Parts: sequence; structure tokens; C-alpha cells
Amino acid sequence: MGESTLNFSLLHRTCSLVVVLCILHLSVTLFYYLRTLNNKELSFVQNQQTQIKNSTVAPEVIPKTTLSSAVKNASDIPLIVTEKAKVLPVLPKCPDQGPTLVGPLRVEFTSPVSLELVRDQNPRVQNGGRFKPDDCVAQQKVAMIIPFRHREEHLKYWLHYLHPILQRQQLDYGVYVINQFGEDTFNRAKLLNVGYAEALKEYDYECFVFSDVDLIPMDDRNIYKCYSQPRHLSVSMDKFGFKLPYLQYFGGVSSMSKQQFLKINGFPNNYWGWGGEDDDIFNRLSARGMSISRPSGDLGKCRMIRHNRDAKNEANPQRFNRITHTRQTMDHDGINTLTYKVVNVEKDQLFTKITVDVGKPDR
Ligand code: BGC
Repeated sequence: MGESTLNFSLLHRTCSLVVVLCILHLSVTLFYYLRTLNNKELSFVQNQQTQIKNSTVAPEVIPKTTLSSAVKNASDIPLIVTEKAKVLPVLPKCPDQGPTLVGPLRVEFTSPVSLELVRDQNPRVQNGGRFKPDDCVAQQKVAMIIPFRHREEHLKYWLHYLHPILQRQQLDYGVYVINQFGEDTFNRAKLLNVGYAEALKEYDYECFVFSDVDLIPMDDRNIYKCYSQPRHLSVSMDKFGFKLPYLQYFGGVSSMSKQQFLKINGFPNNYWGWGGEDDDIFNRLSARGMSISRPSGDLGKCRMIRHNRDAKNEANPQRFNRITHTRQTMDHDGINTLTYKVVNVEKDQLFTKITVDVGKPDR
């Protein structure tokens, strides 16, 4: 009996020891298992970060779900991601002179131009004649405003030559052809006012280039943008022997910032027929203390497409009298009194054509 009690007691102790050892073993196994799990998750997070660091892709295109599940257990990770977002590459501002400008250009109007070809040759121009560079941020958002009626052939040349030039100039631009509806007397300056108003309804333009449809620059360094003073861009036209016809001449192609345009209350609305409206604009600018900036005669060379005077655009006999009164009339004839009716809007890849009824002269 005594011996069997002793045996039982020994067995009991041995079993207890085995149980304790088992518990110990299980605990150690569990501890290491949990540690391995934790390490795996951490290395996944680190891996994700390395990928983000090495990635050139913008932060917004990294799937957010992947990131958030990965960083769930690592409270310091989101901060690092935020810091990374701050240092991602931002597009630089475009330079004053784009790297692809070529300088003097050969401009001729003998070979016919087809719109299909111009569309094919300018695949980066978007619907409505819109373009902006994709490797830098354009210095200015510029609306090109062309007063127009029955000059389809000239428009083709303008688009053919200007789209490649404006793209090389790295502008954020749109082309607006403002087509006078009906056959009443033409009103260039009023159409320009309409172009200003209509372009601003589409985009936050800060600069406006006002160009006749038949004028093509002969040097792409003559940048179609705005300057600290209103700019006269077509300073040496072939039709004037590549010279300014007179010092105050402001016709052909000019540019004005929104502020400059508003300072002179836009353009006059009551110059019907050919002539005088550009002289009135010059008078407005000088009345508001602005001067004209110009490129050099060499850079400002341009060619005009030869044509006969259009019907219903006869010389305006009132122009001489009107331009002597600009200072008295400019505050109540301009963008603040502009009225017109949009008849049609056509979007082509190369331009936006807005047909407008601007009325007719008072009899
Ligand atoms: C007219 C202008 C015109 C200039 C050049 C002037 O007599 O008034 O409108 O641009 O001649 O042709």
C-alpha cells in the first residue's frame, strides 16, 4: 500500500510537469507565431511605401483602398504619405519663348488648304480650337477673336498657319470666329466686343488677341499673348511695305488683357463699315493713360491675303468725325452697352464659330 501511494504520487508529479511543459511550449509557440504575423504586416506596409516613393505617378492615382488597409496598424504611415504628396512633381511654368519656336516663317497663299488636312496636322487641338501644353503650365489663357463674314478661304489659311505657331508658343488658347449674321453693314469692333463676352462665358481667359482673318505672322517669336501695355502685333505688314502706316496705327492684330480692355470700356459699337474703329481704340487707350507696346519691325512682320473690299463693308464716312469725339463717347459706348443675339454656335475641332446678329446702323 505504502509503495503504491509512492508510485501514484510520482506519476502525479510527472504528469503535472508534462502539463506545465506543454503550456510553456504552447505559450512560446503562440508568442512567436504572433510576432511573425506582425512582422509580415509591417513589411507589407513598408513595401507599399517603397513603391510609392519610387513611383512617378501622382498620389491621387494610387488606389486609396490599398493604402488605407495597409496602414491600418501603423499609425505613423499616413503622415509619410501626406509628406510624399507634397513633394510630387508639379508642372513648371512655360518659358517666355517656347523651346520649339523656329523664328522666321515662309508664308504663302498659292497652294490651297483643306480643313481636313489642318485637323489631321493638329491632333492636339481639341474641339472648339482649344489647346494647352501638357509639359508646362501656360503663362496665359488667351482667346483668339476673329471678326468674320464670308471669308472661308482666308480662315483656312489662318488656321493652317496659326494653330502650329500658337502651340509652339505654348499658350493655353481657344479660337473664336465671330461671324456677323445677315448682310447688313459690317461692324468689326462690335464683333470683337461680342468675341470678348462670348469667350469669357466658356473659360477664364485673361488675355484677348483680336486678329483680322487675313493676317498671318511671319515669325513665331511674335508671341500672341498680353503684355504690360496693350500690344500691337501686326507692326510690319507687307501691304504697307513692312512699315507702320502711321505711329498711332492699331489695326490688324492686337492684344489686350482683361484689365486693359475693361479700362477702356471695350471697343466702340457704332462704327459701321470700313475704317476708324481701330483709331478710336487707340484714342481710348491714350485717354486712359496707356501706351502701345510693339515687337520689333523684324519680329512683327506679317502677310495679308490680298482681296477686294467686301460688299457691305464700304468706307465709313462718319469715321473722321467720330474719332475726334472718342473721349466724350467712350464711357457710354462700349462693352457696358453691348447688345446682340447669338444665332448659332458651331464647334469644329479647329475653332468655335459664333454667328451673331449685331443689328444695323441707325438711319
Ligand atoms: C483707317 C483705319 C485703317 C488705316 C489703315 C485709316 O485711315 O481709319 O481704320 O486701319 O487707315 O488702313
